[in-house]
Amino acid sequence: MKIVTVLAHQDDEMFCLGTLLRLRDAGHTIALVCTSSGNKGLPFADADPSVAGATRDSEIRAVAAELGAEYRCLGRDDGMVWEDTELRRELITVIRELGAELIFTHWIDDYNSDHSVTGRAVVNAALWANLPSFEPAVPALADTPRIFHVNPGDGYGFEPTHFVELDDDTAAEKARIGRLHASQMGVMKQMSGRDYADQQQDKDRLQGERMMVRYAEAFRPCLSERRIPWQDVLPGRLDRVSP
Ligand SMILES: [Zn+2]
Repeated sequence: MKIVTVLAHQDDEMFCLGTLLRLRDAGHTIALVCTSSGNKGLPFADADPSVAGATRDSEIRAVAAELGAEYRCLGRDDGMVWEDTELRRELITVIRELGAELIFTHWIDDYNSDHSVTGRAVVNAALWANLPSFEPAVPALADTPRIFHVNPGDGYGFEPTHFVELDDDTAAEKARIGRLHASQMGVMKQMSGRDYADQQQDKDRLQGERMMVRYAEAFRPCLSERRIPWQDVLPGRLDRVSP
């Protein structure tokens, strides 16, 4: 299965990184797509957008290398991602070129507008991924990809329905790889006093408590008809056979 994350920023894959590790280990192929260049991502250290963009590009490429994943960036200005004609066309193209069968993207409401715009834009673009009359220069997919939304946290009307268990080793590996986003660990520590990888692990621990396991990541399928033909593709509990 070809799994594609389409998320706003370089580090947003941490919302589903443990699940990506499990899927990679099960033999699936992963690609990472960001809609934004992340060029506002060093708000306290260096306001030069080219420095932030280059820093975050090198960090996400290190993460992609760990996952054996291809990385694509649509290069939108950080904090200014809008759903326009060009973004729709670029998303249809990248979804097709990467052969996406399963997409992880943001929930449609979120604390960051780049996230919610990207989530909505992905759902909208995926509808046209299998229709050759849209972007006819790029071969259409046989089917619309399945879409799962990642958990934005409390306050956005997100009620997860699918949980992926992470054991201690996977949680530790998630934190190790997540810390390759060294610049963002510093930003979050300055904002909240907590390392971003530690914050993510706290979140995974809370979801795990709900399912009576150590750690879990939580998802919600896109329920728009035609966008989500199958919902039973996540690996789920560790004692069950992976798909
Ligand atoms: Zn983000």
